[in-house]
Amino acid sequence: MKISVIGAGIGGLASACLLASRGHKVTVYEKNSRVGGKMNLVEAEGFRFDTGPSLLTMPHLLEKLFNECEQRLEDHLKLLPISPICRYNYQDGTVFDCFDDRLKTQSEIDRIAPEDSQSYSQFLDYAESIYNKTADAFIYNPLYDFSDFRNLDLFSFFGIDAFSKVSGKIDAYFESEYLRKFFKRFTTYNGSSPYLAPATLNVIPHVELNQGGFYVDGGMYKIAETLFWLAGSLGVDFVFNAEVSEINVSNKKIDGIYVNGAFHSSDLVVANSDATETVVHLLSEVDIPIKKKEKAAAIEPSCSGFVLLLGIDTQYEQLVHHNIFFSQNYEQEFQQIFEQKVMPGDPTIYIANTSFSNPSHAPEGGSNLFVLVNAPYLSESYDWDKESASYGSKVIKSLEERGLSDLSSHITFQSIITPKDFYIKYLSNKGSIYGTSSNNKFAAFVRPRNKSREIDGLYFAGGSTHPGGGIPLVIQSAFNVVELIDRYEG
Ligand SMILES: Cc1cc2nc3c(=O)[nH]c(=O)nc-3n(C[C@H](O)[C@H](O)[C@H](O)COP(=O)(O)OP(=O)(O)OC[C@H]3O[C@@H](n4cnc5c(N)ncnc54)[C@H](O)[C@@H]3O)c2cc1C
Repeated sequence: MKISVIGAGIGGLASACLLASRGHKVTVYEKNSRVGGKMNLVEAEGFRFDTGPSLLTMPHLLEKLFNECEQRLEDHLKLLPISPICRYNYQDGTVFDCFDDRLKTQSEIDRIAPEDSQSYSQFLDYAESIYNKTADAFIYNPLYDFSDFRNLDLFSFFGIDAFSKVSGKIDAYFESEYLRKFFKRFTTYNGSSPYLAPATLNVIPHVELNQGGFYVDGGMYKIAETLFWLAGSLGVDFVFNAEVSEINVSNKKIDGIYVNGAFHSSDLVVANSDATETVVHLLSEVDIPIKKKEKAAAIEPSCSGFVLLLGIDTQYEQLVHHNIFFSQNYEQEFQQIFEQKVMPGDPTIYIANTSFSNPSHAPEGGSNLFVLVNAPYLSESYDWDKESASYGSKVIKSLEERGLSDLSSHITFQSIITPKDFYIKYLSNKGSIYGTSSNNKFAAFVRPRNKSREIDGLYFAGGSTHPGGGIPLVIQSAFNVVELIDRYEG
């Protein structure tokens, strides 16, 4: 079959590889000049920055993708476990290193929060039990039609904590504010608030702390580059600077797409473009009823991000590869981001310092700091055109106060990426960086599925679709697409 893929993000690349390996004729149309989507890259003045993901979890899904394409992941990418996985800095000066080795982390906990010594292991076992009860049902399953529900063990749904909040459950397990903040942060991995999201999301610490969090030697963008190579080796064609403006439908069935004014006929279309944007802007009201468009537009996106890329001429010895500087009042920070939809006054700041693991990512003696603050998705409440430069200065000042002394005088390269940039560059709904939010216990059910119910031959892959955002789930969405194409078009 002749298949057009809209977008060369991880979801588009993975779908293209899987479909080409099954013998389909696949062309990927990407609006930008290179692959990767939100997994992207900036190289300037001797510095190299990943501008999107910095941590790979659930690597078995990437491995499965390579295997299905008759390749071995380890022949192309070197996944490095990072030790410590992350260094957490609290405002009272306490520092906590977390490892994927439970015993090592345990001794850190005994040092900073002996009152919670027992609870750490208990909580990780609880997180694992949620994973065991939910993974087959909600992750490794397209959840599209009756046949997808048939084999589910419905009894396993009891005890997945959908009716309490992440924060409530964590507060009940831990007395120490250090550990409460530490565990609540994992909810932000899919762009949600620990004070709003169902406690089922406590599954995320299991994925990082029990299964492992990895960096790709050379930089995360290597994943996108390697998938691009893999797709090419399987015969996939790529067209860059090619923004799809319309999906053409005839009698409720895919006909083709319009790119830069030209029509390209297709038997099937896989939209890796944001699902809301696709339904609202690429399909006509004849093909999708206005009510469905309104429903798509009403889906709450995940949070966005404010990014500072700082090339500096020094190395701070307190920085490891992944670093977190916590805010004082975590709940207030999430209220500002998710309810008031403004930037936090006192933000939690994440720094990826990949020059710690790959010194070639900065000139000798320097560092490449990717600084990320969670940000609200785009709304009337915050004007990025007015605020971005001053917020950048505020973050730099805050890092100086938290120990990176004289940071501003060491900066030799600086670039800012705002939620507005994420929208303009990748057309993600309201600048969201993880797709849809999970701030609601029904989120898993309202997230768009991987096949359109209105239009035959239209499929969706990517973080704005089932099962959700982040590299591994986006790859799973591509597996779902292929499974549904085999089922419905075979
Ligand atoms: C700052 C940041 C940090 C992150 N950290 C992590 C992390 O540590 N770990 C992790 O697992 N995940 C992380 N994520 C999330 C992860 O990057 C995303 O979930 C994933 O990359 C999304 O892939 P995708 O294929 O769904 O979409 P995208 O990457 O958005 O790809 C969609 C592609 O479609 C193209 N496109 C859109 N519309 C059109 C059109 N009309 N015509 C043609 N092309 C179009 C876009 O240009 C884009 O290339 C992070 C994201 C960001 C931004």
